[in-house]
Amino acid sequence: MRAVVCQEAGGPEVLAVADRPDPSPGPGQLVVELAAAGVNFIDTYLRAGVYPASYPHVPGSEGAGVVVGVGDGVAGVAVGDRVAWESAPGSYAERVVVPADRAVPVPDGVPLETAAALMLQGLTAHYLVTSTYPVRDGDDVLLHAGAGGVGLLATQLAVARGGRVITTVGSAEKEELSRGAGAADVVRYRELDDVAADLPRVVRDLTGGEGVHVVYDGVGKDTFDASLASLRRRGTLVLFGGASGQVPPFDIQRLNRAGSLFLTRPTLSDYVVTRDELLGRAAELFAAVEDGTLDVRVGATYPLADAPDAHRALEGRRTTGKVLLVP
Ligand code: NDP
Repeated sequence: MRAVVCQEAGGPEVLAVADRPDPSPGPGQLVVELAAAGVNFIDTYLRAGVYPASYPHVPGSEGAGVVVGVGDGVAGVAVGDRVAWESAPGSYAERVVVPADRAVPVPDGVPLETAAALMLQGLTAHYLVTSTYPVRDGDDVLLHAGAGGVGLLATQLAVARGGRVITTVGSAEKEELSRGAGAADVVRYRELDDVAADLPRVVRDLTGGEGVHVVYDGVGKDTFDASLASLRRRGTLVLFGGASGQVPPFDIQRLNRAGSLFLTRPTLSDYVVTRDELLGRAAELFAAVEDGTLDVRVGATYPLADAPDAHRALEGRRTTGKVLLVP
């Protein structure tokens, strides 16, 4: 089979297609013929060496496809079943070994590409707005990178719960997409002279001087100060990523001075701990796709061999919605 293989950490050019032996399923595992793999920010962190990886490294952790092999001790899954996953290392490959307990059955009404697009970013959007800070009817919400993969999905889910969502985006095209997802107000933050000073002022103007109940911030370094200053008293900052870089060490007294704020830094694996939790969140997402209340935008699809271009686009802020790789 063909797979994308990195021999060393580096820029997008280290992603090269190579032949690999066809995998066979060990106990508790499935082998899945890939329909689509998701491209995620964490793949770029591992490729670049920001997070450690061992080499040769096959990137990717997310995808969907059809089961072609079932290992010993696996019950309830058969060859030919359609499954999706968010945590199977080596997903940028024609055949992927997936732990059976992380494989989610995909309903007939959901295309495999849509399922691949929903697993990591969709589950993230779901846990952020339903569990980390559960959006309540009438809440004011600020969400950065509103036209991104997590952004478009989290906006729709927060609006469905009655939130009034303000987003930030990097371009006019992204503004249109974000409004289409239900954002009530959209701020083009790259046009502000000083994001840390100007964005909180805009947000307060939009919320009657109060600030928002919650900020979901996956941009990190460039937005963190603005996010804190955009919160109302006792508001919650959910820092869930660092697309612009990691936030430096933080003086906890700032939470006190800024109005008894809450700060959390969540990660998906802590919100899909048990199989029931994984299946429950995925089932809600798939049901929303099937009844038409959740639109999943696949902004770009690349062949496996063009993985370097996919990474360049994601890191260069040129993507909207989900980026997929197909065999
Ligand atoms: P996106 O599709 O949102 O892409 C990132 C977006 O961030 C860009 O399109 C861009 O939007 C914005 N951005 C702002 N500054 C930069 C910068 N300097 N470089 C690159 N992008 C920048 O990505 P995802 O939806 O996949 O992920 C969003 C964030 O969520 C990431 O930080 C990711 O690591 C994190 N994440 C966290 C998870 C968790 O459980 N904690 C799980 C999944 C993702 P614009 O042009 O509009 O500014």
